[in-house]
Amino acid sequence: MAEIDGFELPARKSEFLKVVSLCGGTMRTNEVAHELNVSPSTATKVLADLAREGYLEHTPYHGVCLTAKGEEYSRFLVRRHRIVSLALSRFGLSPDEACQEAKNLEGHVSRALVDRICASLGHPVMSGCGPIEHDGDCCPCGR
Ligand SMILES: [Zn+2]
Ligand SMILES: [Zn+2]
Repeated sequence: MAEIDGFELPARKSEFLKVVSLCGGTMRTNEVAHELNVSPSTATKVLADLAREGYLEHTPYHGVCLTAKGEEYSRFLVRRHRIVSLALSRFGLSPDEACQEAKNLEGHVSRALVDRICASLGHPVMSGCGPIEHDGDCCPCGR
């Protein structure tokens, strides 16, 4: 995939991709709908969009799985969420509050800014939302 800048997908589609990734990379449409609290028809539509854009593939029995592109992009999305959440927790927010506020903000945070925040926090490995992965661009060790 070309260099990720962080604005490839609108926030809503990003949420769908992130859920599929965090649930193991393969999911049924109904599970996605349940997880995101949307109707099955909404889930079907958004997942079809993501499949058309090459992030997901349809699997038999009404499910989807991540493509290589989807895998790479969802890793970035998860990392961005956790970095933003961790940064917000430095302002005294509880983990739940930080998680929720991060969801509101993260769609506006570029990949370059994620890397800058990560560096300024000393390349943390854990957030209130789970472990933080680093890529080679962010820190030399490429953890
Ligand atoms: Zn979170
Ligand atoms: Zn880092």
